[in-house]
Amino acid sequence: MYPIILVRYGELSLKGRNRKFFEDLLLKNIRSSLDGIPHGRIGKTFGRVYIRTESNWEQISRRLQRVFGIVSVSPVLKKELDLEQIKKGAIQVIQGQEAQTFKVETRRPYKGFPLISPEINSALGAHILNACPQLRVDVHKPDLVLNVEIRREGAFLYSRVIPCLGGLPAGSSGKGLLLLSGGIDSPVAAFLSMKRGVNVEGLHFHSYPFTSERSKEKVIELARQLSPYNTEGVFRLWIASFTEIQRALQQNRYPSLSITLMRRFMMRIGAALAAKEQSYALITGDSLGQVASQTMESIYVINAVTTTPVYRPLIGLDKQEIIDLAVQIGTYETSILPYEDCCTVFIPKNPATRPTLEQVFQAERELDVEGLVQESLAGIEVFELGKK
Ligand code: ATP
Ligand code: MG
Repeated sequence: MYPIILVRYGELSLKGRNRKFFEDLLLKNIRSSLDGIPHGRIGKTFGRVYIRTESNWEQISRRLQRVFGIVSVSPVLKKELDLEQIKKGAIQVIQGQEAQTFKVETRRPYKGFPLISPEINSALGAHILNACPQLRVDVHKPDLVLNVEIRREGAFLYSRVIPCLGGLPAGSSGKGLLLLSGGIDSPVAAFLSMKRGVNVEGLHFHSYPFTSERSKEKVIELARQLSPYNTEGVFRLWIASFTEIQRALQQNRYPSLSITLMRRFMMRIGAALAAKEQSYALITGDSLGQVASQTMESIYVINAVTTTPVYRPLIGLDKQEIIDLAVQIGTYETSILPYEDCCTVFIPKNPATRPTLEQVFQAERELDVEGLVQESLAGIEVFELGKK
């Protein structure tokens, strides 16, 4: 029933001279999100985007709900510039919506229409009160606002405002490399980075044969699920072997430090790959205090291996908040599949919660750190998930 979708984007308009860059990118991302879905013209006027639909507005708006940069969308009805037609449209638009109070808000950029805005408001208000006796008018805090725009091409009516993701358009910031485990947290960290325009690539460590082929496939599946939100709908996933590092750490005399040492290896390999691939940041799913490796002391010691900025978008979130986001993104069900991760296989009985730099330097003296890092980098594989 709705031939048009109105797309609002908020924050972009604050970007001063960069505004055109952000708008063009958003438009490109909207087009690309609708690949394979029938739709008409996509146009931009006065800081808004309009999409012509082909009686599939729900399908289109579901896609738009995955496009960062869009604040909200509204399905819009178009009527002839005739009061009786507009009245009909008003009822169609508000029908089936839960509301006890309403108001009508008219704008009339086309001055050729015989009634002025307040007259249209009261004509439509009276008509709605008549047709829907359960509704009352409330001009201050209505449950529902019927918006009417009188343009030369016709009258446009809408009341529904569907909230979308907000953020900045995918690809508007630089590239970042996410350490992607098979857990709940790191995919959410990917999503929140993408929200600020980061083109996220993933790096996963597996420890075949200690970890199974299925645990690798699970991570590939997570990468695929993240791809629609990412730049150009593609998620690039690097998979590196951690097996030799695990073996070396098993020989190590400091079992309580093994997770800390593992994380330091992950950071070193990540930082080397990031530098090679022009990523400006590493991203992890750490949340402060969640486990032994995420205390302030642990993060300090783990972070010390690199000067590459490390983004930890989940640092202040509780587990339940992270889970709620994972459900919203669509990664939760895959994340909770019970396949082992390289760190859970070798989890020590008493992982250190307050490691120090002196301790890890001592432990690492017994390891060929650089050799192990280079060996893992040399065998890296890359996958492109999503479009193309
Ligand atoms: P999640 O695994 O969902 O991220 P978690 O609570 O299990 O959450 P940890 O296992 O402590 O977190 O890992 C902390 C962070 O280290 C992860 O968020 C991820 O960024 C990185 N990480 C852990 N394991 C791996 C792995 N196998 N490959 C790549 N990165 C990993
Ligand atoms: Mg994990």
